[in-house]
Amino acid sequence: MSKHHYDLIAIGAGGGGLSVAERAAAHGAHCAVVEAGRLGGTCVNVGCVPKKVMWFGAQIAHAVADAHDYGFDLSLRGFDWATLKHKRDAYVKGINDWYRTYLADSDVTVLAGRGRFVDAHSIEIEGRIYTAEHIVIASGGEPVWPDVPGAELGISSNGFFELESLPGRVAVVGAGYIAVELAGMLRALGAEVALYLRGERLLRRFDHMLREHLTEALLDEGIDIFTHTQVAEVRRADDGRLNLYCGQGRESAGFNAVLWAIGRRPAVAGLNLESIGVLLEDSGHVQVDDFQNTNVPGVYAIGDVTGQMELTPVAIAAGRRLADRLFGGQPDRHLNYENIPTVVFSHPPIGTVGLSEDEAREKHGDAVKIYQASFTPMYHAVTGRKVKTAVKLITVGAKEKVVGAHVIGHGADEMLQGFAVAIRMGATKRDLDDTVAIHPTSAEELVTLR
Ligand SMILES: Cc1cc2nc3c(=O)[nH]c(=O)nc-3n(C[C@H](O)[C@H](O)[C@H](O)COP(=O)(O)OP(=O)(O)OC[C@H]3O[C@@H](n4cnc5c(N)ncnc54)[C@H](O)[C@@H]3O)c2cc1C
Repeated sequence: MSKHHYDLIAIGAGGGGLSVAERAAAHGAHCAVVEAGRLGGTCVNVGCVPKKVMWFGAQIAHAVADAHDYGFDLSLRGFDWATLKHKRDAYVKGINDWYRTYLADSDVTVLAGRGRFVDAHSIEIEGRIYTAEHIVIASGGEPVWPDVPGAELGISSNGFFELESLPGRVAVVGAGYIAVELAGMLRALGAEVALYLRGERLLRRFDHMLREHLTEALLDEGIDIFTHTQVAEVRRADDGRLNLYCGQGRESAGFNAVLWAIGRRPAVAGLNLESIGVLLEDSGHVQVDDFQNTNVPGVYAIGDVTGQMELTPVAIAAGRRLADRLFGGQPDRHLNYENIPTVVFSHPPIGTVGLSEDEAREKHGDAVKIYQASFTPMYHAVTGRKVKTAVKLITVGAKEKVVGAHVIGHGADEMLQGFAVAIRMGATKRDLDDTVAIHPTSAEELVTLR
């Protein structure tokens, strides 16, 4: 066998590509991953990992603000963005290095460079051809830039992680989870933040209770929210700051940074997919069936490039299951995309799994029953700053099967994983009622709802 021939090649060393190659190698396959950038992909380098470090920083800013109410006499001499960035970058670099060793130990070859298809079983990387029985497209996604004059004066989420200092005044454009997360962190760390939404609402596909509570919390934090506002142009003023023009003479001046968080698109450019006839969705995502097969035999796609719930654990789960199917003697193994839990690392965080109330009513009509509560969590009983928590259960039918659970508030990020297991196993409201509460917590509200 040529040393350039593999059983499986994954294009992209993000969560998806790494997991399919690692699992396939564990089953004894000869595997390689192609990576044009840094090992770990979006999540490790410009996504979940550095973002969560910043979120922890923002949590500390909130704790410092609350410390006085807990009896601490603190005098704060400042916050140094550069220190946090330096430590965060070192942590990320450690993960990049760890992956290199781990892949070598797992017998997965790293092919550095940009890969493009030559045919369904061959790819070219910097003039060299590599072949494989199975090729997995795991090229992920990239931020969308708006097509408006001056867009290049702004930054995307990638640029957020390159900021060397805290911008004093920031315009965040977007309504999705990345927009609200980055807006919340910047605000907590001391920036003035304005959030520009094209439509009416934040987090369009989330349950309305979550959206409403988050909007209230962001406003309470001092974030300005402009709805129905389309940024039409960005210009740099004489003082070096940025002005936004939003049509009908509306202008906002004096920003140190404009952050575009208006969505992500699949990274398919340059893969030469058209030459091998891989079909794309209208959105540009690679079309796959339930088993991650594309329409071309031997070519598969996983993760963000498919547009199926764009989350790291989803890419990882799809990759592992695909490897189990191709090399592990499990022909039916595939990922079920229902009831996938997720967290929005906003301030306060959101944890959610299953259907929103609107989705449940559309699917199950009058069989839906809702249980919900909103309260001030005990942490805030003694603080001047009050951030509410809200919980909601969505049940269906006479047995009140739980089809959705949604929480916003302190600790919501760590709360939903276990409930997701229960919901996946078909838990009913009665099962939750029969579970003894953990007291005093906010999570106990989910098993005591009336
Ligand atoms: C700011 C931000 C925050 C996020 N936070 C979370 C979170 O909290 N939790 C969560 O679950 N998810 C989060 N995500 C989403 C998560 O990062 C993605 O769902 C995940 O990275 C998808 O993995 P992937 O393997 O499909 O693609 P990616 O991780 O994007 O990896 C694709 C890789 O392919 C490489 N590549 C592309 N084309 C080629 C080519 N032709 N040749 C060689 N290499 C190529 C790229 O360089 C990249 O490294 C976040 C994303 C962003 C942007």
